[in-house]
Amino acid sequence: MNDTCLLCKAPTLSNIPTAVDVWVTSDSKPWPRTGNFCTCTTCGHVQKRLTSEWLKGIDRIYREYKMSPLSNGQGATPRTRRLLNNFQNETTLPTEGRLLDIGCGNGAFLRSFATLFPDWTLQGCDQKESRKDIIESLLGVENFHCGPFEDIDKQFDMISMVYVIEHLFDPMQAMLAVRAMLSPEGLFFIHTSDLTENPFDLPVVDHCSHFTLEGLEAAVTKARFEVLASSSTWCPKEIGVIARVSKNLKDENIPVDISKGKYIAKAHLTWLAAIRSQGLALADESPLGVFGTSNAGVWLTASMRELVSFFVDDDEKKQGKSYLDLPVYGLDAIPEKTSVLLAFPTTIAQTIAKCSSRKRPDIHFHIPKHTGE
Ligand SMILES: [Zn+2]
Repeated sequence: MNDTCLLCKAPTLSNIPTAVDVWVTSDSKPWPRTGNFCTCTTCGHVQKRLTSEWLKGIDRIYREYKMSPLSNGQGATPRTRRLLNNFQNETTLPTEGRLLDIGCGNGAFLRSFATLFPDWTLQGCDQKESRKDIIESLLGVENFHCGPFEDIDKQFDMISMVYVIEHLFDPMQAMLAVRAMLSPEGLFFIHTSDLTENPFDLPVVDHCSHFTLEGLEAAVTKARFEVLASSSTWCPKEIGVIARVSKNLKDENIPVDISKGKYIAKAHLTWLAAIRSQGLALADESPLGVFGTSNAGVWLTASMRELVSFFVDDDEKKQGKSYLDLPVYGLDAIPEKTSVLLAFPTTIAQTIAKCSSRKRPDIHFHIPKHTGE
C-alpha cells in the first residue's frame, strides 16, 4: 500500500470509504474500481492511491487510449476558444513569443491559440507519436515533441497545461520543471477539472489528482509562481490559473483549509451513490435513458449495469451511433414512454432538463437529487 501524497510527499494518505464501485477512464470507457479515493492529512489534497494494481491499469489505459470515441476529435473546440477568450481578458501577452502546450492531444488548444496570437511560435508535446503530423501541420507550430516535456531544450514565454496536471504522478515536480523552462517574465497557464463543482471527476480512474481552485492556487504558489488570475467560471466544471514565474526563491505556503477537499470529496461520493440508486429506482418504472456519453454518462450507465436502455446526446456527431452496445439518440429520437436521467451536476442538469422538456414535453428528464450533504 502506497501512503505517499502525490503533492506534498508526506506518508499521510487516508482512504475515503465509499459505495462507489465502478470507475471510468478519461477516454470514457467503464473500468472496474481498482483502488481507493484518499485525502492527505498533511496538505488536504484529494487523490487516488498509486498502488501497483492501479498503476498496472493506468499503463493499459494509456496504451489503448482513444480521444473522444464518438467524435472525430478534429478542429478547435468551442471549449478551448472560450477558455482562450477568457485568458485574453485576464492578461496581456506580447504580440510575439514562444508557446509550449504540454499534453497537446489533437491540437485543439494550439489551433485556438494560433487564431488569437498568429505571430507566436508554437510547440506541442504529447505521449503519442501518431499525432506528430497533425500537430506539425497546424498554423504557427514549429515542432511536435513526443515524450517527457522536460527533455525539450528550449526556453518558452508561455507554457500551457490543459487537462494534464490531474494525470501526473508528481505534479509538484512537473510544475517546478515548467518554471525552469520559462523565460524570466514567462507565463504558466494551467487548467483542470473542478473538484468543487464536478462530482463525476472523482471516478475517473486516470485522474489521480482532484483539485479545488484554492488547492490549485496553493500548489502553483508552492512551485514558486505568482498567481495573476484564477477562476472557476472560465469553463463550467473547470478551474484555471494564470501565473508568472515568481522572483521569490523562498518556499512559500499559502494558507488553505486542508479539510475542505476531504468534505467535498466525501459529499460527492455520497451524491454519486445516490444518483445510482435514483437511476435503479427509475429503471424499475419504465425504460431509462442516460443523458450524456462522456465520462459522467458512461460512469452512471456502467454503475447501473444492464438497466440503462439508451443514451441521449445533443451532439449531432454522436447521434445515430451506438456506444457500450446502446443506441445514442438525439432529443427527437427518444422513444415514447421512456424517461431520461441527466448525468450532470445538479445545477447544469436543471438547465438541460428545462431546454429538453421544451422539445420533448412527453419525456420526463430527471435531475439528480440533492442528498442534503
Ligand atoms: Zn499531501
